[in-house]
Amino acid sequence: MVATCQVDNCGVVAIARCSNPGCQVPGGAAFCLSHGTIGGHCGLCLRVTKERIDDIAARCANARNRIRVMAELLTSEGFSPPNRYFRATATKTNWRGKVIEVDDPAADGYGWPVGIHEWVWSVEVGWPHNNRQERRGRRQLFVNNNGEIIAHGNRSASGRPAVSSQYAFMQGPEIVEFWDGIVERMADIVRSHGLTVPS
Ligand SMILES: [Zn+2]
Ligand SMILES: [Zn+2]
Repeated sequence: MVATCQVDNCGVVAIARCSNPGCQVPGGAAFCLSHGTIGGHCGLCLRVTKERIDDIAARCANARNRIRVMAELLTSEGFSPPNRYFRATATKTNWRGKVIEVDDPAADGYGWPVGIHEWVWSVEVGWPHNNRQERRGRRQLFVNNNGEIIAHGNRSASGRPAVSSQYAFMQGPEIVEFWDGIVERMADIVRSHGLTVPS
């Protein structure tokens, strides 16, 4: 007997069975050409996976938004970020005509410390900074007054702090845990200034 597609009572002739051991149809749902991937998962499982991914994305976006709101609250209440995560320098020509590097305090970066975390960042290598290389390691992270997350010492070719958004190495619940952890640290900082944590 030819199996028919078991996704959404489709009934079209099936091409394969779902290969996901956790498929809600025991033995794997039979699926047609439009309700699964060849040699892969059925439409039911693909839907569950997509919902999970969407849920993770929504929870991360919510956490990032809360971090930004808290950074804005602190700033608007007159609390500046206390820690310098980045010491800026600029080049200038001295009286001998030699190019020298000098401190540029106005461009320094400040943030609230939110703990040491595994992090991925990219650095510019070679001259004149024409190559990017990815580095990974445990770094002290900060939230700046724009609510962005920056690792200590990160810098771009322009000498400005590089805002990193590279959390791609984290997947699934791990990334939600990471963002929720940063939210908690920021909430502690907000409370320590006698402010109410925005919901
Ligand atoms: Zn399945
Ligand atoms: Zn079908």
